[in-house]
Amino acid sequence: MNEHLPESGRIDSHTVLYGVIGDPVRHSKSPIMMNRAFQETGINGVYAAFHITPDKLADFVAGVKAMGIRGVNVTIPHKLDIMKHMDHIDPGAEAIGAVNTIVNDNGTLIGYNTDGIGYVRSLKEEAEPSIEGKKIVVIGAGGASRGIVYALAGERPALITIANRTEDKALELARALRGKAEARAITSEHLKEACRQADIVINTTSVGMFPKTDESPVDASWLKEGAVASDLIYNPMKTKFLQDAESAGCRSHGGLGMFIYQGAYAFEYWTGRTAPAAAMRETVLAALQSG
Ligand code: NAP
Repeated sequence: MNEHLPESGRIDSHTVLYGVIGDPVRHSKSPIMMNRAFQETGINGVYAAFHITPDKLADFVAGVKAMGIRGVNVTIPHKLDIMKHMDHIDPGAEAIGAVNTIVNDNGTLIGYNTDGIGYVRSLKEEAEPSIEGKKIVVIGAGGASRGIVYALAGERPALITIANRTEDKALELARALRGKAEARAITSEHLKEACRQADIVINTTSVGMFPKTDESPVDASWLKEGAVASDLIYNPMKTKFLQDAESAGCRSHGGLGMFIYQGAYAFEYWTGRTAPAAAMRETVLAALQSG
């Protein structure tokens, strides 16, 4: 794939295509992050954002095969519906029930999920090197939560406690983890006690995300001193939950690393090369800081 490098990063007739699909998609930072990764590694690839509405998903998949688009990232609302268009699904993505990365292997489409493994890599590198034996509280039971709890389950935590506004979804997710990790669902009145005991408390809801930045999914004073407060949100980079947790003596971990590493794993699946994660982070950080 890399034998035909264009002069100084120019697109030429050997350039390999990649992209992200979503609805909406224009807010996505994936194109700047991935194009920086191609530039950094000298790979002759280009990555674009495609606004694909649900009624056009099948047409898009046909286009991927016809045009030989090598790799696609999949974001809201397509992570579930894209699965029926895959020729193979990685067992991890199958268990999670969502695909966020497609590899086009000469016309065979393989679906992966890099959200959960991206999150765990970020958590271990940036906040808590060992998850084994830890008590974890996960707030929220949506798509992102599913990805991360499966990845966390593989790290042998002592207990994963899930709390969600819609309690049935927390119950269902805790049940799905049976045999993989010690997991339970709790109702909101037990959240305070669970947070007091937890080593890591993770917000996987959208509460606190821009523009409603004055909201928090949980009272951070419930966390024990030294615990890790983690938030999947990266806009803002430090949510109210994380700010309050720091004031209460906790360590904080934001969502930017998850975004970088889910992209890094996708890049590695597509190219077989190590992703330039530091350069990718630098580019996204600069874009977020410039508004
Ligand atoms: P989702 O599938 O729509 O799930 C949303 C979750 O948030 C559900 O558990 C929902 O509870 C809960 N929720 C929403 N509004 C709430 C409110 N007002 N009060 C209490 N709970 C509320 O969305 P998702 O894809 O999982 O994304 C969730 C968050 O993760 C978003 O902020 C997203 O930006 C972030 N995320 C970050 C990355 C990253 O790379 N850093 C990747 C993926 C997602 P119900 O079940 O009761 O509706």
